[in-house]
Amino acid sequence: NEQIVLAQRPEGLPGDETFRYEDTEIKKPDNDEVLIESVYISVDPYMRGRMNDTKSYSKPFEIDEPLNGHVVGKIVESNHENFSEGDVVTGGLPWKKFNTVSSDAVNKVPSTEVPLHLYLSTLGMPGHTAYGGLLEIGKPEEGETVVVSAASGAVGSVVGQIAKIKGAKVVGIAGGDEKVNYLTETLGFDEGIDYKKDNFSEKLAEAVPDGIDVYFENVGGPISDEVFNHLNTFARVPVCGAISSYNSKEDNGPRVQQKLIKSQALMQGFLVAQFQDNAKNASEQLAKWVQEGKIKSEVTIAEGFDQLPEAFRNLFTGDNFGKQVVKVSNS
Ligand code: NDP
Repeated sequence: NEQIVLAQRPEGLPGDETFRYEDTEIKKPDNDEVLIESVYISVDPYMRGRMNDTKSYSKPFEIDEPLNGHVVGKIVESNHENFSEGDVVTGGLPWKKFNTVSSDAVNKVPSTEVPLHLYLSTLGMPGHTAYGGLLEIGKPEEGETVVVSAASGAVGSVVGQIAKIKGAKVVGIAGGDEKVNYLTETLGFDEGIDYKKDNFSEKLAEAVPDGIDVYFENVGGPISDEVFNHLNTFARVPVCGAISSYNSKEDNGPRVQQKLIKSQALMQGFLVAQFQDNAKNASEQLAKWVQEGKIKSEVTIAEGFDQLPEAFRNLFTGDNFGKQVVKVSNS
């Protein structure tokens, strides 16, 4: 049974020395336990924070212990009446090909009629992040202008499509022609802007002639410095992430204080966990939109358990297009 442990804490972008492959036993499930074969393993930006030995909302990964993240897997053997062999489940699990865990560590997926990796993106944690952050903090109104950064990614793509469903004008910011074209051509955003081009600042200004009412913040840094120049009075800024600074020791956050005062904007940090009370509604609504074709998504699937470290790095180089997952089994 293969597993990947944290070999040492990374400085900057995690190199191969950060990870170590090991072989372990498969444990037979005791009472109330289930044995799960991982099918898709998610890599997510927040995991970079857990590689540091600093206090945060989720505790640091331990050296020499397996990394841990969202997994879609199949039950191979069950010692609990609620689960049978072949059931598809999701949960936060160690980076192992097979996991034996307490049955309450996982949940059955509501339907297997959709591609299973969607439970790691639109129908999973990133979808809930987009839904809660946009609707409970951003509160876009019809005709307002919503801007989202990392717009082609797992969270950003859902944010923009929900904002369109709510009747807003949506401007997405992403890196490179392929991603930017995808925003307007496939996802139906009104504008896509490439932050890697020299004319980013002018293009942004042209795209938001009426200013910005909601900025869904995913990246921080110089991109957001530009965006904050256009905040309207009483704009809302759900602060979801700041991926541009996750690999650096300095907080690369935008310098916003003066701009917030000028616009009397509301800027609020959030964690997806705070929307838990509404999770059932969110799941049902997201599934309905996916079924109706109102929310589309892109996925980058790396093949093979040994691809996990490289797939994780893609999040920071932008080599992922849409949700990045790793397929570790053909079951
Ligand atoms: P994505 O699928 O969007 O992948 C990450 C993307 O970030 C990359 O593809 C890249 O896109 C972009 N990126 C990477 N480095 C930079 C940089 N230096 N400057 C600008 N863009 C960069 O990831 P997710 O959708 O999973 O996550 C998006 C954000 O949401 C992250 O900040 C994450 O931490 C946050 N998040 C927060 C949660 C919460 O509870 N608050 C929960 C889940 C996610 P490109 O090629 O366009 O640059």
